[in-house]
Amino acid sequence: MALSRRVRSISPSSTLALTALAKQMQAEGIDVISFAGGEPDFETPKHVREAAIQAIREGFTKYTAVAGTEQLRDAVVAKLKRDNGLEYTRDEVITCAGSKQALYNLGMVLFDKRDEIIIPVPYWVTYPEQVRLAAATPVFVPTAEEEGFRLKRRDVERVLSPRTKALILNSPCNPTGAVIEVEELKAIAELAVEKDFYLVSDEAYETLTYDGVKHVSIASLGEEVKARTFVVGAVSKTYAMTGWRLGYAAGPKEIIKAMIDLQSHSTSAPTSISQKAAVAALLGSQEAVEVMRVEFERRRDHLLEHLQRLPGVTCVPPQGAFYAFPNVSAFYGKKIARGRKINSSTDLVAYLIREARVTAVPGGDFGSDKHLRLSYCLSMEQIREGLERMGRALEQLR
Ligand code: PMP
Ligand code: GLU
Repeated sequence: MALSRRVRSISPSSTLALTALAKQMQAEGIDVISFAGGEPDFETPKHVREAAIQAIREGFTKYTAVAGTEQLRDAVVAKLKRDNGLEYTRDEVITCAGSKQALYNLGMVLFDKRDEIIIPVPYWVTYPEQVRLAAATPVFVPTAEEEGFRLKRRDVERVLSPRTKALILNSPCNPTGAVIEVEELKAIAELAVEKDFYLVSDEAYETLTYDGVKHVSIASLGEEVKARTFVVGAVSKTYAMTGWRLGYAAGPKEIIKAMIDLQSHSTSAPTSISQKAAVAALLGSQEAVEVMRVEFERRRDHLLEHLQRLPGVTCVPPQGAFYAFPNVSAFYGKKIARGRKINSSTDLVAYLIREARVTAVPGGDFGSDKHLRLSYCLSMEQIREGLERMGRALEQLR
């Protein structure tokens, strides 16, 4: 098949694939508990859904401006000021079909052949692929499990080169839940200014932090760092709006302008109806956000408590997002049926689906094969039941 070299260099999104597999098994009546899904199981708040219904009733169903309506871009500007202490103007903001598309557009206009893009490991599956799609080179920098997977300035320094174009930050992190400490954010900001590289700050999980930890946007740490940072945000996780496909980026206007030009030849604009919904989400009552955060914190505690009961499993307590990233390498080398062995996180996930009817995402897909990613977008009861099933299946491994 004559596929382009560009597309031959990437693999499909395993997070989406495993989520789809679990949904399909459930639709077939199989009693599977899915720790794979990366989306809140809450409903989109009612006032947000109502805004979309009203948009349809009023016939707001035509193309909008490519970067989104003025109303939505202004809502993003207002949100960034209110929540993050950031001052942007409308022309420094683009809205897109999900923050994934915002990141994609950014990669396409900013990254070039020969550019090196630093990606902390474990990483969200999409970053390396988007870097490759832009023909640039991902440079991986491991974070230490003993340090809670929290990125440090010295980690970044180790891999800097004259070709470094950008560093991708994701705090709170998918898949580890790590939140970078403010002191380190400051040190990384100084490094970016000193060594002249860009920062792509993916803040999709900004409202989901626990133990009293607060999210800080690196762009808020000074004008110099703001001038080289792209803040990427989403309504997907914050307002349980994954299916609406609406995200945004804010940053230096020339590059935002290039993203708009690119978008004018791809999706034209985000969906008009979703834009109205996003305005209601960003500017309306924020009550539901805190309700979901509190519930996720409860679930995290519950998940950690049950994980601790599984012999051989260790887990760094996540301080944000809705994922835990337990180390399961103690089970590698153990025998399963017909003399075969578990040799990787992919083998273990396959075994758990078969033996325990439990799904998770292999850590290997996030660059860390000793781990599994467990999402806790599940009820307390499902979390308990899922981990008990997992425990029984793991006990059978010798
Ligand atoms: N960034 C991270 C870290 C994610 O986990 C995801 C997946 N939800 C996204 C961005 C993209 O989300 P969306 O396109 O739904 O805004
Ligand atoms: N971001 C979520 C996840 O990691 C949703 C799927 C995706 O877009 O990757 O599971």
